[in-house]
Amino acid sequence: MQNSPALPCDIVLFGGLGDLAQRKLIPALFQLDQFGLLHSSARILVMARKTMTTEAYKAHTLKRWQGMATSLTDEQRNDHDALEVFFSKVQYSSLDFQTPAGYEAIVDWLQARPASTNGEVGDKPVPQVYYLATPPSVYGDICCQLDRAGCISERSRIVVEKPIGHDLESSCEINEQLATFFDERQIFRIDHYLGKETVQNLIALRFANNLFASQWNHEQISHVEITVAEKVGIEGRWGYFDKAGQLKDMVQNHLLQVLCLIAMDPPAELSADCIRDEKLKVLKALRPITPNQIGTHIVTGQYTAGTVDGAHVPGYLEEDDANTHSNTETFIALKVEIDNWRWAGVPFYMRTGKRMPLKSSEIVIHFKPAPHYIFDPDQKHMLGNKLIIRLQPDEGISLRMLTKDQGLDKGMRLHEGVLELTFSEVFQSQRTQSAYERLLWEIIKGEQYLFVRRDEVANAWRWVDSLVETLAHANVKPKRYSAGSWGPVASIAMIAMDGLTWY
Ligand code: NDP
Repeated sequence: MQNSPALPCDIVLFGGLGDLAQRKLIPALFQLDQFGLLHSSARILVMARKTMTTEAYKAHTLKRWQGMATSLTDEQRNDHDALEVFFSKVQYSSLDFQTPAGYEAIVDWLQARPASTNGEVGDKPVPQVYYLATPPSVYGDICCQLDRAGCISERSRIVVEKPIGHDLESSCEINEQLATFFDERQIFRIDHYLGKETVQNLIALRFANNLFASQWNHEQISHVEITVAEKVGIEGRWGYFDKAGQLKDMVQNHLLQVLCLIAMDPPAELSADCIRDEKLKVLKALRPITPNQIGTHIVTGQYTAGTVDGAHVPGYLEEDDANTHSNTETFIALKVEIDNWRWAGVPFYMRTGKRMPLKSSEIVIHFKPAPHYIFDPDQKHMLGNKLIIRLQPDEGISLRMLTKDQGLDKGMRLHEGVLELTFSEVFQSQRTQSAYERLLWEIIKGEQYLFVRRDEVANAWRWVDSLVETLAHANVKPKRYSAGSWGPVASIAMIAMDGLTWY
């Protein structure tokens, strides 16, 4: 990104006063601009319901940034010159997305591009990006109204956020609405995990290092762990979260996307469709979990009051706006099996939960032990290399290796050492872009490989729906776990049944 030329674009941001826009999108656009990646002719039209002037929108945004966690450093927040330049590209306009009146403002704005850059900068048409940072319930109306107002053309792109629906049927409806107005190549479905540097690094790690490529299968790998642990609870979104739960909110998208990148076959080339074709094959090969596998392949949990970072926090059912009878899971552990040649017999253990002791996303690849053991019998349990890929925090890769312990008295005793690649140390002088910065940049470029294709969404939902049905059929209630712990004991028991422990 550092050496890339600035790109022109017209971005219409629907829902510009919402949490996502204020906390992630506007900061990311500002950063792109600050680092010279938005062309001087780039324009951003922010739309939301409330009536206010552009100046008031700027003041409102800057004030909100003071009280919220964003990707901006203090230095960036206080770079008044850069903020001035960025906000000169922004215009605010109020609109009720569901009523036709007001869409003409978008037409006028699109047509008002200065003559010198009218429709083209250099020899390329300027992309028109419609970013829907809104509830999915208004996607259909927005598309219809954009179409009616004549705002959709070859150079239009539409961006939608997760979740795409709440099950297969509703996701198909949303995708059908989008497909009525846009070609698949114009649709950018965000899963912000795909914008993380380390998640993309999985592709480099696997396909640029033959050392791993030849080991990446059931012959060499015994099992894989994927953990996405959140320290936060519901963050004031109880009503939203309770309808979804951790399975739909985290597994259906982020964890399955990470699983796909670990498990997929090498793509023939680095094109969006080649990569997504390979991910799709993994999703299609996920084995459904059956009712008699509850407890051995799936465990759900819900946090009770406890201590996180030394502070007392309420339980899920004691949070503001909670329905005290909810059985929604805030934790889920799964043993996933992939029915294909490469992964036959290799379990993928996945767990994700809220109110865990740490915020951490990590993949652990466990390699099989050497076939014949010649060292101290009491050290046999140490066998098996582990490759640990830390997605956050402290992004990097560690390879756990066995060496000889030093000292005359140690004989041939083994010592576990670590080969460490911490990205902040390797790329010291370089800034790591936020996931949204990278995703917005790819949208402006028109590159789709970091975005989820329609058939991926459908197949991920198909598998998740089958889990939901399995749990509902067996009337499974989530097991309780204290906030600040690693989830219910049943999740430890689940992996222990296979003679293993979570890393
Ligand atoms: P918010 O509810 O905070 O923001 C939604 C915005 O859309 C508000 O500005 C709201 O305006 C506006 N809006 C909704 N309906 C209309 C309408 N008919 N006319 C005009 N404005 C309307 O939601 P978020 O920002 O949190 O989320 C937006 C989307 O992104 C959702 O789909 C969410 O699932 C997804 N998402 C959000 C994440 C986050 O971190 N927040 C992370 C990942 C995905 P008003 O306030 O006036 O109602």
